[in-house]
Amino acid sequence: MDLKSIENIVSLCKRRGFIFQSSEIYGGLGSTWDYGPYGVEMKQKIKDFWWHDVVTSRENVVGMDAAILMHPKTWEASGHVSNFHDPLVDCKNCKARYRADHVDLNKPCERCGKKDWTEPRQFNLMFKTAIGPVEDSGEITYLRPETAQGIFVNFMNVQGTSRQKLPFGIAQLGKAFRNEITTGNFLFRTREFEQMELEFFIYPGENEKSLDYWCKERLNWFKKLGINPEKLRLRPHDKDELAHYSTACFDVEYEFPFGWSELEGIADRGTFDLDQHNEYSGKKQQYFDPQTNERIIPAVVESSAGVDRTFLTCLVDAYCEEEVRDEKRIVLKLDPKIAPITCAVFPLVKKDGLPEISQKIVEDIRTKYSAFFDQGGSIGRRYRRQDEAGTPYGVTVDHQTTEDGTVTLRDRDTMDQVRISTDNILSELQSRIQ
Ligand code: ATP
Repeated sequence: MDLKSIENIVSLCKRRGFIFQSSEIYGGLGSTWDYGPYGVEMKQKIKDFWWHDVVTSRENVVGMDAAILMHPKTWEASGHVSNFHDPLVDCKNCKARYRADHVDLNKPCERCGKKDWTEPRQFNLMFKTAIGPVEDSGEITYLRPETAQGIFVNFMNVQGTSRQKLPFGIAQLGKAFRNEITTGNFLFRTREFEQMELEFFIYPGENEKSLDYWCKERLNWFKKLGINPEKLRLRPHDKDELAHYSTACFDVEYEFPFGWSELEGIADRGTFDLDQHNEYSGKKQQYFDPQTNERIIPAVVESSAGVDRTFLTCLVDAYCEEEVRDEKRIVLKLDPKIAPITCAVFPLVKKDGLPEISQKIVEDIRTKYSAFFDQGGSIGRRYRRQDEAGTPYGVTVDHQTTEDGTVTLRDRDTMDQVRISTDNILSELQSRIQ
């Protein structure tokens, strides 16, 4: 797949109602995107799959949902006020702006070909906002740049009420905001995005074992999402890439048309965050160990993934252009569990009772999966529309259905069709979707 394909994916997303440019009727707002009906279904399925895998299926992980606005001291304690900067350079000639760590300052500007850089300046990525009716007198705080701190400041509340014992995790899923200097590549880097984060609290000393465990679990999760394993890898951070509090970090990366890029960071954060909140709040952030009767500050292994980047990865990985009987077929080979629509139902013609039978089938499928009724246009056209939307299964109701109660079930990827009884549609779908 080449870079052009990203443009094709952007236009497919618009055509089929996955993603729209934000505030499009006003000319759009840079690097912000809105999820349409298909997009929001697919995004929800990705989030549900994460929540199930990381929280619901585990005895020792609980979830929470903190407010986006937090006390400003949170961001002093976390280091974001003083450290959450990207180095910024401008081309004095054409005014293009770059992240200094993303360009070679010994070379000319890519855009205008002149070499006339400003000195790199540090730019804080947090969005500032004021609380209260009058901007000047209001208290300044920030839109959270990560969900993790909402977990750390609630450590005592959650541990106390859930009575979890080490090792245990607290997970959260929600919006984060960063005033990125350079954006682009569609959903890859935006200023508003969602994160899926897990803070896993452990006895200090168990860091390496836990990091190893979560690296394997998380890489595996992306594989279970149906992403091609050959395009996924775990990359250890070099020493100079590590945040000051972190001793080891791995990125889960995907090979995009624009190169290998991060989907998730899995990091050993030591006791840094709880130490900091302990100090800045003056409230003890400790765990009472019932085995030793001592109070300790647990260490943490963090897994931090982006919902929107995962969504983009699933689209890029699933996008195919094929030749079928001398015609181009665009198909999204999404894993059935994240496809916006699981099964589309088509009456072959709009008469003879076929639409009514189809509607009844749609209702049945909806008790378990998402379904869609489509009677507009030729059957071939209807199949193609669903192929583009990534719908893995299609049921066609024809005249034989009125005679013997059977329908055809079509597979999106192989385009094979089998005849099955109407009564078996749900069980057949169930057996095909793991
Ligand atoms: P990058 O180096 O790409 O800026 P980061 O290392 O700053 O990312 P983290 O702070 O580790 O990213 O954030 C964890 C995850 O949140 C990332 O792996 C990514 O999936 C997601 N994420 C971070 N920034 C953005 C963004 N601007 N747009 C979309 N997703 C993001």
